[in-house]
Amino acid sequence: MAAMLLETPSDAAMRRYYDKLASAGKGPGLRVDQIGGAFGKGLFADKVFDQDELVLREPKLVGAQHEHNKADALVCSFCFQYIGSMELQIGRRLLSKGDESAHDLKETGSLSGGEEGSDMDLTEEKEESENGHDGCGCDEKSHNRKAISTELVDSLLTGDLHLPYSDKFPLSPITSCPGGCAEDVFCSDMCADEAWRTYHSLLCAGPNSLCENKKALAQFKEHACDSNDIFLVAAQVIAGTILQARNLKNEILKNATAKGKEPRQQTHDILLEAWEPFAMGFKKLWWEAVALPDDVDPSQEDSFRDQFKELAIESLNYLKEAIYEEEYDPLFDLEVYGHIIGMFELNNLEIVVPSPVEDYFIYIDDLPKDDQSAHAGTVTRPFLDALGSEYATYCTGTGFFALQSCVNHSCRPNAKAFKREEDRDGAAVLLAIRPIRKGEEITISYIDENHDLEERQALLADYGFVCSCSRCIEDSSMKIFSSRALAGMLQQ
Ligand SMILES: [Zn+2]
Ligand SMILES: [Zn+2]
Ligand SMILES: [Zn+2]
Repeated sequence: MAAMLLETPSDAAMRRYYDKLASAGKGPGLRVDQIGGAFGKGLFADKVFDQDELVLREPKLVGAQHEHNKADALVCSFCFQYIGSMELQIGRRLLSKGDESAHDLKETGSLSGGEEGSDMDLTEEKEESENGHDGCGCDEKSHNRKAISTELVDSLLTGDLHLPYSDKFPLSPITSCPGGCAEDVFCSDMCADEAWRTYHSLLCAGPNSLCENKKALAQFKEHACDSNDIFLVAAQVIAGTILQARNLKNEILKNATAKGKEPRQQTHDILLEAWEPFAMGFKKLWWEAVALPDDVDPSQEDSFRDQFKELAIESLNYLKEAIYEEEYDPLFDLEVYGHIIGMFELNNLEIVVPSPVEDYFIYIDDLPKDDQSAHAGTVTRPFLDALGSEYATYCTGTGFFALQSCVNHSCRPNAKAFKREEDRDGAAVLLAIRPIRKGEEITISYIDENHDLEERQALLADYGFVCSCSRCIEDSSMKIFSSRALAGMLQQ
């Protein structure tokens, strides 16, 4: 049965699924079609798109904020919108650096102690953080920081201190989890209910959780946080499929009772139906799909891959202890678990949500120079100093999307993933970078397409394919041509 979950769906099954999405209004002006070769399927324009026009905006099927990002951005666990208040966002970030800031350098920041004036000039710092902070880990983040008193941080957290102009950046108040856990918070009842219905009720640590072994659940989460937080997203797939299968089963029961018949319960069919959204994703085994890093000697490849497999085994064991149900046993198969994570490895989109904290400090910096702005600058300066370049850190996470995951790569793409001013959540957003004809395939570049042919091919090897887009074909024929020309010149 586990093998059935991993079978490539038939063309007819794919057609049914994507037609269902289209008729539910998902991805207007788009259609998913089969294409030959390694790609399997692709996303196609069913209408003309102008340059810069929105091609797709789609919420995730499953996804999570990165664990290491949680102190930097308090967001809705379901839609990734920033929540709470500006004061809370800034206070939490400062708190996470707590000891370091409060003890190393004492009380440099007080309301009266800041520099006069508000000439902060954030532009340079902003560029630096956009271009560089991912590449170099955390060191760059912490430079230029000045400490701030714990009292001041507390006053932000308690709401006693109101920052000037923070009401220009209103955030949704925090909605707590209906299960009563402290880990997941939401922007609205709608997000809280959707999360609860689609996966969280089985993965919640709170008193109303439907999970029967919360100790094992806690161990599962701890293991994921210590090793790879992608396991938390894999758990959403499994929990979500179980919950959906239960719903389908109840529906069948209800319909049968209404008709006065014995319900015909086909567990296999129900499970396959509930699994449908994840059946569609292109998959490979995680420990086989993951690219061998340059610093791993090829002779060590087997043990490198075994480490990933070991991690998956440990993780799955905890998850099984926490939420196993015999009826849905195939979902807890190691091959299935490995393929879910491999599917993420090959398809997931890095979720980025721009930070209102960054917008806020830029707003203060851009205020027309007068007494009021001088005051605002004086009040906010200590916080900005204490945050250093980190004031601009975004919310980051990873997500799997039904339609976006069908978009193939091209080194000469016609669309790009991009957040517009109004995109303030974790949805995948694709914009046309040139006019797109009806019937044309939508493509994005998975890599920095400014590289030359060889570098591009090397980067794309991580995705497990050799690109044969129009640009790669041109570039390689140019290469053959120029090497022939060179050979011809040498012969003369
Ligand atoms: Zn939300
Ligand atoms: Zn909860
Ligand atoms: Zn290419």
